[in-house]
Amino acid sequence: MDAERARYLRLQLELGGSEVILSAPLEQGMGNGESGAGDASPVPIASPPPGPAAPLPSIAPRWLKDAPPIPGPGLVIADPAGLPLGHAGGVWDDLDAVASVVHHCAKCPLCEDRKHTVPGEGNPGARLMLVGEGPGATEDETGRPFVGRAGELLNTILASIDLTREEVFIANVVKCRPPSNRKPLPEEVAACLPYLERQVALIRPTVMLALGATAAESLLGVRKSLGQLRERVHSYHGIPLVVTYHPAALLRNPHWKKPTWDDVRIARQLLER
Ligand code: URA
Ligand code: SF4
Repeated sequence: MDAERARYLRLQLELGGSEVILSAPLEQGMGNGESGAGDASPVPIASPPPGPAAPLPSIAPRWLKDAPPIPGPGLVIADPAGLPLGHAGGVWDDLDAVASVVHHCAKCPLCEDRKHTVPGEGNPGARLMLVGEGPGATEDETGRPFVGRAGELLNTILASIDLTREEVFIANVVKCRPPSNRKPLPEEVAACLPYLERQVALIRPTVMLALGATAAESLLGVRKSLGQLRERVHSYHGIPLVVTYHPAALLRNPHWKKPTWDDVRIARQLLER
């Protein structure tokens, strides 16, 4: 429990939390033990009375404390025929099929300089799907999404809402690295988007989280600032879509960590609905 509390406090600090939240009283275990100077005769702790264990009170998850309420609806992307089922070349049956088409894809010039395609990875039955912009250098080297510094921060953000990478699915708008990490061009996004759309259709997550303006604009088909897109629950083919800052932006501007934590707690609440 001590280790868990320490981990939580570290997360809070990482994410810019300004207060220390202890949702349970300190246990007797805190601060006792080996290092206790002059602690030669520890006071014996009374053992619990025999009999069946009392039921644990239900404790609200820590990420819920002071979380913002779920905001109102935003943009609606609706396609009466449902999510697109791949491009004219055919329907990709599963995520591996999408990844192997991506692997050989040369539909846009981003294929020229790539070392590896980065189709995305995670739980095919994920309830939360995250969408970033496109691979950076480390991702291009490894073929895996969000494994550089921004990825480490993303792991921390997920941990702060009690989720792991293994539980979610992480994808990008473009699957090949744009040179010098520039933003993907509109025609590159247009060429690559069918892969993401098919991934969403296959996973059918309960909630989506767009990381940064490129992901949000590409999914929602609009040109708007992040400020105009945050704090709304958009609908992407019926799937609630929350928009937040890109982790790389948070590395440059730590002031955005707190609003990001608010956004992900909104997404987390939507998962519970
Ligand atoms: N930034 C992204 O948008 N995606 C990645 O996979 C890594 C960094
Ligand atoms: Fe194909 Fe997308 Fe890579 Fe362009 S970025 S080559 S569309 S996989």
